[in-house]
Amino acid sequence: MKQLLLVVLIFVPFERLLAARPQKILRRGLLTDMAFLFLNGWLVLAGVIAIMAVATLVKQSILPAAVTQTIGDLPYLVQVPIAILIADLGVYWTHRILHVVPALWEIHSVHHAVEELDWLAAIHQHPLDVMFMKAGALFPLYALGFSAEAIGTYLLIYFWQTWLVHANVRLNYGPLRRILVSPEFHHWHHSSDTAARDKNFAGCLSFYDVLFGSAYLPKGQNPKAFGVDHPMPTNYLALLAYPFVAWVSKRQRSDAPAIQPHISQAGDPAQPRQSAPLG
Ligand SMILES: [Zn+2]
Ligand SMILES: [Zn+2]
Repeated sequence: MKQLLLVVLIFVPFERLLAARPQKILRRGLLTDMAFLFLNGWLVLAGVIAIMAVATLVKQSILPAAVTQTIGDLPYLVQVPIAILIADLGVYWTHRILHVVPALWEIHSVHHAVEELDWLAAIHQHPLDVMFMKAGALFPLYALGFSAEAIGTYLLIYFWQTWLVHANVRLNYGPLRRILVSPEFHHWHHSSDTAARDKNFAGCLSFYDVLFGSAYLPKGQNPKAFGVDHPMPTNYLALLAYPFVAWVSKRQRSDAPAIQPHISQAGDPAQPRQSAPLG
């Protein structure tokens, strides 16, 4: 709770000072985001405990002890950068898969539904989405035997990074923008512009997007609008239910007899998004 208060005390004035777009503090969807902020954590905690349990099992029964021991014995200051490199590679591919697999996109589209992007948009995420992302980042770290201190430091860095990259601030990091994920870089990820779609997946290290051909940073331009191209619910419970509703309605459509006219329409919330090719 103290950390949250600190986040508010830092990001509210920070956004006034460096605003990328004019936006009110009491913006649309604020109450829904508050629900995400206070209720998501409990659901996510259960998922993280499950990830840790499976990773510990893999560490003990599959990976050679020599590997996990060597990593665990590395000095803290060596473990932390390696942990960030590995975890962000996990974030990159988990995030990309959440975009390209239509059933998973229904979960992740809850995060992309935000139309007024600011620091608080960071927590506008379906709990299953958070669990997938956490699994991508933390599973390899626990399984490979990184120390609790190194994993804790990565989590702390990621905690601040996620508020920062969503914040409504003008920051692009200049020559470092193709190495580190800046607010500008992640704002493009949320852009509703079709050219920016399925781009900029990394959490901390934008060079993964450069490496895998998914970086999008047009010079001298800024994203103008955010959100997805189909209607999304606006309250917390409806957003929690959204992927399940979308899956069921899609299944019903695919079960329909072939002679029936196609009933889905453009803008239908259950319409699968056009997948981007992997690679
Ligand atoms: Zn995304
Ligand atoms: Zn985001």
